[in-house]
Amino acid sequence: MMMNRDTTIDIDATINVGTKLDEDTTICRGAMHRAPTRLPSLYIHVPFCVRKCDYCAFYSHSLVNSPKDLIVLYLEGLEVEMTKRCEGAPQEVTSLFIGGGTPTALQDMDLERLMAMIQRHFRLKPSAERTIEGNPGTITAAKLAILRRFGINRFSLGVQAFDDKLLSAVGRMHTAQEAREAIKRLRTAGFDNLNLDLMFGLPTQDMAMWQASVEVALSYSPEHLSLYGLMLEEGTPLYKRYKEGLNDQIDQTDRTEKVKIDSQLRCDPITTIQGDWLPDDDLQAEMQEWAVLRLKRAGYSQYETSNFARAGYECQHNLGYWRGEDYLGLGPGGVSCLNRVRWKNVEEVRTYQSHLQNGQNPVEEAGQESLTLRECMAERMILGLRLQEGVNIISFRNDFGVDLRDIYRDVLERYRHKDVFAFQGDYLRLNPKFSFVANSILQEFVGLV
Ligand code: SF4
Repeated sequence: MMMNRDTTIDIDATINVGTKLDEDTTICRGAMHRAPTRLPSLYIHVPFCVRKCDYCAFYSHSLVNSPKDLIVLYLEGLEVEMTKRCEGAPQEVTSLFIGGGTPTALQDMDLERLMAMIQRHFRLKPSAERTIEGNPGTITAAKLAILRRFGINRFSLGVQAFDDKLLSAVGRMHTAQEAREAIKRLRTAGFDNLNLDLMFGLPTQDMAMWQASVEVALSYSPEHLSLYGLMLEEGTPLYKRYKEGLNDQIDQTDRTEKVKIDSQLRCDPITTIQGDWLPDDDLQAEMQEWAVLRLKRAGYSQYETSNFARAGYECQHNLGYWRGEDYLGLGPGGVSCLNRVRWKNVEEVRTYQSHLQNGQNPVEEAGQESLTLRECMAERMILGLRLQEGVNIISFRNDFGVDLRDIYRDVLERYRHKDVFAFQGDYLRLNPKFSFVANSILQEFVGLV
């Protein structure tokens, strides 16, 4: 999850933090309008995977190489953080998402301890969404029974591709057959709200391979599908291989090209790069376009740029992020945003645990920020316009005390003749035909007012 920025009102009005973050995170709202206390959603980060995938830049430890005590330290730290956060009384939250990492990489006993800990410290309505992420190869009937017993009602499975060659090209630790078995196990265990993650733009993947994976996924009638393009991220083995491959090529051809490619590789923390063995941007766009139409025909609604669901199965937890609602993220690297104060926990498990054991805040020194009005409004626009429903004009006014049609008049006018934006009822939406270029358009909201 990432965020970004933004009148005729006090442009630099940062929020006054009334108390320290590790106490109550109460906010003096000053001139800001805001609905009275909303319950946050709860995210728990489990920073362990069986083995790291070659493209992954998320914070997680490979269990293959980790010292045995790391999970114990993680659970100890998490327990202290939950206790501190809840201050003796279970805290109400709207939804639960246990992500990672690979939460299902935990042993049964550790998984059970984690679930019991969450149950002791947090309260959710019986109908609330409770999601866990997992990967094929780590899902056993025993683990699923534990999850069901603790009320987990949604499972998000990282399949990425039903193709062993592609899986191995990006260092996934499972096979397509294991993904099929995991889905069957999940259905047998009673999970009737299942998300499958698929990736396009994988090394050597062509359109036929992409279509084949989507068709296999559809044959299991998942309630939800998330489709993401591969991002080549600096520091990952895949990035390194790609860069070395390019340099080999350049050694044999034109050295002047190297300067161009080096600057490409450096330009952003997250960059999609074209190359011989990675589908280029045009092919990736075609893959996405094809999938959007195919999934629509199969009865899924593209409720967010990368997310598709059957009616009533949209991910409530993630909708909260995109609608600008509050969230609490616990665990190493967990990110929280309450009343427009955002902070990030330290990532390293030992530091996280020792901070908590010593009564210190586990928050990164540079990881706390009071968001300015500009930032809050820009984030609301950028995230909200990724949603099919768009940005709710009434909520925007209630939360910020201004009308987005006034604040963003210039940018809305600039794109009016192209029909990029549309007002429908209480919402401002992005015309779906511009979703492929949405990022560059949405950046217009950053630092605008
Ligand atoms: S399983 Fe997910 S979190 Fe773990 S290394 Fe692979 S992509 Fe990263």
